[in-house]
Amino acid sequence: MNMHFPSSTAVALAPAVQTFLDGGPKFLIDGRLVGSEAGGAIDVRNPATAQVVATVPEARESDIDLAVKAARRAFDDGPWTRMTPAERGKLVYRLGEIIERHAEEFAQLESLDNGKPISEARAADVPIAHNTFYYMAGWATKIAGSTLSPSVPGEFHAYTLREPVGVVGQIIPWNFPLMMAAWKLAPALATGCTVVLKAAEDTPLSALRLAQLIVEEADFPPGVINIVTGYGETAGASLVAHPLVDKVAFTGSTEVGKLIVKAAAGNLKRLTLELGGKAPTIVFPDADLDLAIPGVTMGSFFAQGQVCVAATRIYAHKSIFDRLIDGMTEAAGRIKVGPGLDSATQMGPLINAAQLERVTGYVQSGRDEGAHVQVGGDGFPGSAGYFLKPTILTDANPTMKVVREEIFGPVVVAQAFDDWELDRLAAEANNTEYGLAASVWTQNASVAQKMARRIRAGTVWINCHHVFDPVLPFGGYKQSGWGRENGASALENYLETKAVTMRL
Ligand code: NAP
Ligand code: MG
Repeated sequence: MNMHFPSSTAVALAPAVQTFLDGGPKFLIDGRLVGSEAGGAIDVRNPATAQVVATVPEARESDIDLAVKAARRAFDDGPWTRMTPAERGKLVYRLGEIIERHAEEFAQLESLDNGKPISEARAADVPIAHNTFYYMAGWATKIAGSTLSPSVPGEFHAYTLREPVGVVGQIIPWNFPLMMAAWKLAPALATGCTVVLKAAEDTPLSALRLAQLIVEEADFPPGVINIVTGYGETAGASLVAHPLVDKVAFTGSTEVGKLIVKAAAGNLKRLTLELGGKAPTIVFPDADLDLAIPGVTMGSFFAQGQVCVAATRIYAHKSIFDRLIDGMTEAAGRIKVGPGLDSATQMGPLINAAQLERVTGYVQSGRDEGAHVQVGGDGFPGSAGYFLKPTILTDANPTMKVVREEIFGPVVVAQAFDDWELDRLAAEANNTEYGLAASVWTQNASVAQKMARRIRAGTVWINCHHVFDPVLPFGGYKQSGWGRENGASALENYLETKAVTMRL
């Protein structure tokens, strides 16, 4: 295991990034870049060093109120809702162009703020973000109702109108800050909603840089997009409770998702929720191990395993279990762990000290309950950053906490199975309160398709893991959430349906 520290491969920050950090990032409210009215501030740290890299404003209730009222005016009175779909689509497309034009800056900010390897930010976070805007821009002109034939006596002309739901409050987590902002903003804007987006306290930088570029390089009417950052318990809670907000779209933990369900009850806000997961990864005896070993390793440790769809529960047939785990152990041992802003780094630090403590607590609980630490399990003593090595636990069983609970870090548990009767195996895979994702590894197409039908999750990958694309609906069964992001399904989150019936 290689701890990589700044060297010839360290990435120097682009001048535009340094200027942005030094200049004091601002909120976007009502078309202007502003500080916090309430005067709060949040220090932003680089998780690789624990050093403060910027200070951003902290929204309190009064700031949220200003942002929501701006979004309300923009929806009720502004030119936005009277624009043609083509004009709206062009503006959404422009957000994609802005991100693509400033791609390297966004990759650097994302890596600095979240800790993820810059190679990942360049290859995944940033392109997925701009492609999401490009994809959703095309939908603006394709939203349509239908004509209907009622059977009541008489002659009628009946049809549906699809209308934007109104002012949307959007709350995102720290694991894919720019990509989550894109998944939220793009469909809401394509449908004609107005938004207040709250970025996570740990990773506000890319959203606030986008806010700045929206003012400098896009022509949205004031109030259509408002971007703020602040703490969940204050700024987030104010947004969810605000009576002028029509809908809340949230990504984060199942625990906070449940709080949001209660808080949104005041004015019966519409809700979509993208919550936690504990993805099963099932490797059959005939799996192509040359594909499965690197594939499951990446599924486990991509983004430091801080992914709701990470391959955290590995079930492998006993005939290939040792070969798979030996291969993954070797691959995990070769992963270069280091600061995100080193271009040789393959896995960065966890997001913050609390997360590191939480995840190492799970490793300890696995040990206490009799699991074997096959590889990893510790960090780099002496480093100020929040590092934990890629960790594989074996000798696991279904009653262990590490098998049942979401860990949200680079720690996976592996169990062997013998009998591969598909209903039994699916029942084991489904034995969780979550239902977000799964992967199945086999060369038998029929087995793969049968498992895809039996697994209760919003995403099933076959012979792959972590394939994301704007066309693929994404979301959870069971306690993994309500609704789907991406694809045409994402539009449903932001549309109302009106039935218009005329007697002829
Ligand atoms: P979290 O604590 O639920 O936070 C998510 C967001 O909600 C943050 O912006 C947070 O603000 C805010 N928040 C916290 N408490 C709130 C409240 N009472 N009212 C309104 N907003 C509130 O989750 P996290 O620890 O940041 O992220 C990890 C979790 O998110 C994991 O469980 C993971 O599975 C889940 N997740 C799910 C998906 C998905 O697509 N399904 C994607 C990523 C992550 P602050 O953090 O700024 O205080
Ligand atoms: Mg938090």
